[in-house]
This record gives sequence, C-alpha cells and structure tokens, in this order.
Amino acid sequence: MIPLCVPNLSGNEAKYLNECIESTFVSSVGAFVTRFERMVAAAAGAAHCASASAGTTALHAALLAVGVRPGDLVICPSLTFIASANAISHCGAIPWLFDVDAESWTLDPELLKREIARATTLRDGERIHESGRRVSAILPVFTLGVPADMDAIVTTAREAGLAVVVDGAAALGGTYKGRPSGKLGADLTMYSFNGNKTVTAGGGGAVVGDDKQLVDFFRHLTTTGRRGPDYDHDVVAFNYRMTNLQAAVGCAQMEQLETFVDAKRRIAARYDEAFRGVNGFGRFPSPAWAQSPAWFSGVVLETDDGDIKSAELRAHLRAADIDARPFWKPMHHQKPYLDAPRTAMPVSDRLWSRIVTLPCSSHLTDAQQAHVVDTVLAWSRIP
Ligand SMILES: *Cc1c(COP(=O)(O)O)cnc(C)c1O
Repeated sequence: MIPLCVPNLSGNEAKYLNECIESTFVSSVGAFVTRFERMVAAAAGAAHCASASAGTTALHAALLAVGVRPGDLVICPSLTFIASANAISHCGAIPWLFDVDAESWTLDPELLKREIARATTLRDGERIHESGRRVSAILPVFTLGVPADMDAIVTTAREAGLAVVVDGAAALGGTYKGRPSGKLGADLTMYSFNGNKTVTAGGGGAVVGDDKQLVDFFRHLTTTGRRGPDYDHDVVAFNYRMTNLQAAVGCAQMEQLETFVDAKRRIAARYDEAFRGVNGFGRFPSPAWAQSPAWFSGVVLETDDGDIKSAELRAHLRAADIDARPFWKPMHHQKPYLDAPRTAMPVSDRLWSRIVTLPCSSHLTDAQQAHVVDTVLAWSRIP
C-alpha cells in the first residue's frame, strides 16, 4: 500500500532520542523543549513560543488565555478537523459555525463581517450575539496549511473587539503575502506536531505570539498554574506539557522543515500538472495571497455527481493498493455540533464530499507518484 501521509524519520530523530535517554531528561524539563520552541518561533516568524502536549490541548489553553469563558460563542469555520470545535467546547463555550470561502477553503472574511454586523451588538464593551451570548473570539483555521485572508479577518476582529486564535495545525512553512504563518496579527497561533503533520514530534503542539505576557500566561495554564519553585498554584490549570522525548523528535523534524515543505510542494505541483486537463477535476486551493505548504495533496471532483465519484475513485485507488481518503466532514454534520449556531453552508456542503486526498508523504518517490497518477487517469477514462 502506498500510504497517504506518513512521517519521514530519516534525520537526527534516533540520535536525539538517545541523547534524552542517556541524559535521563525524558520528561517535561529538558534542553530539547527549549530548543524546539526557539525553532518553532523562528519558523513561524513570531517572537515567542510555548509548547504543549498536543495541538488540541494547545488550542484549549490558548482560548482560555485570550479570555474565552463558559457560555461564550467562538466563531469557527465548519470545515475543519473536530479538534478546533472541541477546544472551544473544552472551555465551556459554543462554536458559532461559519461557511468557508470557495477559493481558499478558509473562513470567508466577507461573511464574517456581514454576520457580525447582522447578528451581534456592542453592549457595555462586550460583543453580544442575538441569542444573548457573549462572542469572545474568532478561530480561523488554516485549511491544508493555507493561511486564511488574515488582513481582512484581523481588521474585522479588532473592530468588533474580538480575540483571534489561529488553528494553524499544519501551516508551518506556509506564507501570507510573503509573511510567515505566525506573523499575521493573531493573538496566538497554534501548530500541531501530530504524526500526520508535515513535521511531527510523535504528538505535540505549540502556540506562538508576539505578546510575551500572553504566551507566558498560556505556559502558566499548561503547567499547572505553578508560581515559583514551591507548590504554590494560583489558578485551576492543566498538565499540558510537551516532554523532552517529543521535543527531541520535534527538533530533528524542524531541522528538515524546509526540505519537507519543498518536497510536498513538488508533489502537489505534479498532481496539479498531471490532472490539469481532466474534465471535472479541480485543484486544491492556492489563493493569490498565500503560498501553501501543501500539507495534503489531491483532487476535487467538481461535477454534480462528484460526491459519488469521489467515493468511486477512492475505492478504485484502494483496490490498486493506494491509500486515498476523504477530507474533513464539516462540524455542522457532526453529532456533537448538530445544534450549534451556524450560517448557511453552501460552499462547505458542496465541497467536503468531493475532496479526495492522495499520497503525499515528503519521501514519496517519483515512481510511486507516477503510479498514483496513472491509476487516477485510468479511472478518469472509465466511461
Ligand atoms: C491535526 C489538527 C489538529 C489537532 O492537533 P493534535 O495535535 O492532533 O491535537 C487541530 N486542528 C487541525 C486543523 C488539525 O489538522
């Protein structure tokens, strides 16, 4: 089976893990954690970074750090991995689900502006939804690592008095108008280092930001709210720390970030080129404002029967020992979020069932990719 997307552990991973074991620093204190945070901050273009046990836990603590409280609404695109919505729920808040923009598959800034104006008012300095709930933050998701239109989103957020926490889980290496993904005006930007991301720590997460106090507060919340060397804790907090073992793998992976992103962009470009003339085949997004880090590659079957065709194509590929999968099922179709407040969803509803992701590990060989391309093209010729 040619896998969809598996880690490439050909660098210093084993060497650094051995260093951890020989030093006995295997837990949440250690030199690799600090080194990893510096590398992530530099790659993200941000002044400060704090690591965490996972992307989901980082997102939870980031939302708490910017002031999300129980009962609040947090604006979130429906087309995302469920961790984005779950992190909001973990705060006791409720996701307010928005449709995405067709070109970028990210939060639609026009819709955002329009809905905030239509459905909220400012009362005593707080943004209140027509349901009576406070709206406290916007959580843009950088789908496939492609940055959302952040200049527009941040402008709207600031005018509305809302915090911005980005789910940039797979966005390391991506840029927006030439700026790196952690330097786009959000209060905090989260990255995931889960095994299926472009760089992995086995599991893990991090946030970056330019406000040192805010990043320090995030760290405080993820490290049991401890003050000083004694057992003094000033807030109910979490044990969301990354271990030195995770960070050791993470450092070895971060050393290869550029190589991995280059490889993934080449893979994406080859698929795009190979399928360009095929009737009904659309590309993954590349809005003019962004350079995608191409976390996943694939095709969109754009015809009216594309939802049926995409399932057929996936079955055809799997029969040829090629892993191909659907992409995120939107939150408004997920059992925990069926009742969440939401906008109309014309783009998400047409899009999600037509996406097919194709093998795109950074060490996918040319021969393997040629085999995938040939198999897809053979399927497309079946009458
Ligand atoms: C991977 C991913 C996450 C979750 O990160 P974990 O590290 O697995 O907790 C969150 N959001 C998005 C968009 C992701 O792709």
